[in-house]
Amino acid sequence: KSFEELGLDPRLIRALSKKGIEKPTPIQQTAIPYILEGKDVVARAKTGSGKTLAYLLPLLQKLFSDSGRKEKKPAPCAFVLVPSRELCQQVYTEVSWLIELCRVQLKAVQLTSSMPVSAMRNALGGLPEILVTTPACIPKCFADGVLDPAAISDSLEILVLDEADLLLSYGYEDNLRSVTSIVPRRCQCLLMSATTSSDVEKLKKLILHNPVVLTL
Ligand code: AMP
Repeated sequence: KSFEELGLDPRLIRALSKKGIEKPTPIQQTAIPYILEGKDVVARAKTGSGKTLAYLLPLLQKLFSDSGRKEKKPAPCAFVLVPSRELCQQVYTEVSWLIELCRVQLKAVQLTSSMPVSAMRNALGGLPEILVTTPACIPKCFADGVLDPAAISDSLEILVLDEADLLLSYGYEDNLRSVTSIVPRRCQCLLMSATTSSDVEKLKKLILHNPVVLTL
């Protein structure tokens, strides 16, 4: 199937085409329609499979209706949680070119624990719709008063846990709990993982509702 047949917005298809991306990878073929339907999804997908676009494309499409809103929400609508600073940068780069090429009024920021509080406050002050970060950053932002848990409970529409197996093996479990405890029931949750361990199963039970499980 083509990106069009998967139900993607023409703006996204044009943006992909400008980057020379014309044909969806297997994970994109399978995951995108379910994510667009609003389902929670668990996907077993390795780096290099195109997993990042598999969740970023439908995530952006979901937020298109929020773009250019006069009254910006006080907290992000989408969280992408990743295990490392490197992956944070990669995902941020990918979402940034998509936003730019789609010419939509959406803003993404990345936060990592090494940033000073003032830089975090600045980044969030621009009222981004999309936050790409490592789990340790979120409790830190709560403690420093730069993110308001109640506002997030009101605004969050989509949560992605990327490389969930590494999120757990890097010891982010407690941080993840403080995030998942404020995720509202209506929030769509996506979990990407290269492997499925009992810990990943636990995380899946903790935050996903009747997920579609994709193994490729
Ligand atoms: P990932 O598996 O998400 O780390 O993606 C690996 C690389 O593949 C990234 O540089 C993407 O920009 C690229 N990529 C993702 N989807 C496609 C696609 N459908 N066709 C060609 N390249 C892609």
